[in-house]
Amino acid sequence: MTVRRPLIAANWKMNGDRELVSAMAATLQGIDSPHEILICPPVIFLSDFPKSSQYRLGAQNVSSETAGAFTGEISADMIRAAGAEYVILGHSERRCLFAETDATVLQKAQQALRVGITPIICFGETLSERQQEKTMWVLAQHLDAVYAAHPDLLAETVIAYEPIWAIGTGLTATPEQAQQVHAFIRQHLARINPEAAAKVRILYGGSVNADNWPTLFSQPDIDGALVGGASLKPAEFAAICRMAKE
Ligand code: PEP
Repeated sequence: MTVRRPLIAANWKMNGDRELVSAMAATLQGIDSPHEILICPPVIFLSDFPKSSQYRLGAQNVSSETAGAFTGEISADMIRAAGAEYVILGHSERRCLFAETDATVLQKAQQALRVGITPIICFGETLSERQQEKTMWVLAQHLDAVYAAHPDLLAETVIAYEPIWAIGTGLTATPEQAQQVHAFIRQHLARINPEAAAKVRILYGGSVNADNWPTLFSQPDIDGALVGGASLKPAEFAAICRMAKE
């Protein structure tokens, strides 16, 4: 059986301040968790986190360019220098609000991998796509655009399934709905590379909190969480990190 080490990732979005950095670092310093823990704050706070073996750091975005006249952009080398080991790519907020496409995601993933940063690539369906029973079709299109086009990425990335209708809404996919999609993603990717598909970590994201996480996490193909709102509360995030995979 393939063992996948769970990853519990915090996406602070454009929230937080130095007080939250200190509170989160202090809380995580004291916890006992078998999982890999990742904090993705706004990049300006990356270097404020004390170095620790208890957690890793990541960014929420990276430039698709290497360097040069790109006002306001931050390169992969820069986020790496600030301490990032991961970067979230293709989050639905970036796709919907900043017109990012799978092609943009691919360019950014190449930049991240060039400097040894692991991309966490997000995919999910809208509510109307789910209601029209197009969820698997939508995911297949995205997965093919990224992984069928670049099979090597499968062994080098983490996937996050984030139903768009569940992000920041308080609505969560049921454990059965989430497991069905996670299993579909793995099976679909197995057609590209069965060994890498068995190993790739697939996180669930969408209004995860300390109450709903145990039943989601008990699903066999859910290998961790991408947590938004609840990751701004150190005690609740720590509780999610502590929960064992049954
Ligand atoms: C997210 O930002 O990726 C997310 C899932 O947010 P929330 O947990 O608040 O729904």
